[in-house]
Amino acid sequence: MLQYVGMSNFLSDFFFPRYCNICGKKGDYLCNLCKKLFKRNLPECYTCRRLSSDFNSHSSCKSKKSLDRIFVCWEYNRNTSNILKKLKYKYVTDTSETLFTFFLELLTISCFKKHLKGTLLIPVPLSNNRFRERGFNQSELLARYISKNLNIDIDNDLIFRSIDSKHQASKNKDERKYINSDSFKLIGKRNLNHYKSITIVDDVITTGSTLEAIASCIRGRYPDITIQGLCMFRGRAKYSFS
Ligand SMILES: [Zn+2]
Ligand SMILES: [Zn+2]
Repeated sequence: MLQYVGMSNFLSDFFFPRYCNICGKKGDYLCNLCKKLFKRNLPECYTCRRLSSDFNSHSSCKSKKSLDRIFVCWEYNRNTSNILKKLKYKYVTDTSETLFTFFLELLTISCFKKHLKGTLLIPVPLSNNRFRERGFNQSELLARYISKNLNIDIDNDLIFRSIDSKHQASKNKDERKYINSDSFKLIGKRNLNHYKSITIVDDVITTGSTLEAIASCIRGRYPDITIQGLCMFRGRAKYSFS
């Protein structure tokens, strides 16, 4: 059997060779050298972007709509934005899996992992129009991957996105402000009191306003619930020690 699997891998590599999505080198969808281009984000408070233990939001930075903490894996820069664009606009399963595996590897060794115990994963939904246009939701795929590998509950039908906004990356700060809790509706019947926390999953965050809009919407029914976020990318922070 092992021999058969080995032979089948050999044949698939022979007929369908893999190339690194960044440098084009033969071997894998993301080679080890290019993995190093993914710069890790340090644990920070997502609001003020100063360093903070366990990725916690500082109590002085929190408001009613704030998330309690957000794990952001990598810096969003030219290299990572290229690979993300490829995934967003042309879904490539193998590349996507490679990126998710890399994400999970880092999440698993991070201090954030302990906060995932007893949580419920909620992917940031796309509007129906956007979903039809793209055919998939990158955040949902990531959430499903985490759910499957870490055995965590997921609910993809809890939040409905009612407003079809422009692509987040192409918006300016004023436009982003208009994403508010009215853009989302809590429609699922699941009782969230059974969970220790809710974890919203997104691929890239900018100001955090989308996650905060979802958090406000959930807190409308569950005012005291712990809400946190898992995210692949965010633009560079200017770190300082708090
Ligand atoms: Zn490479
Ligand atoms: Zn802060």
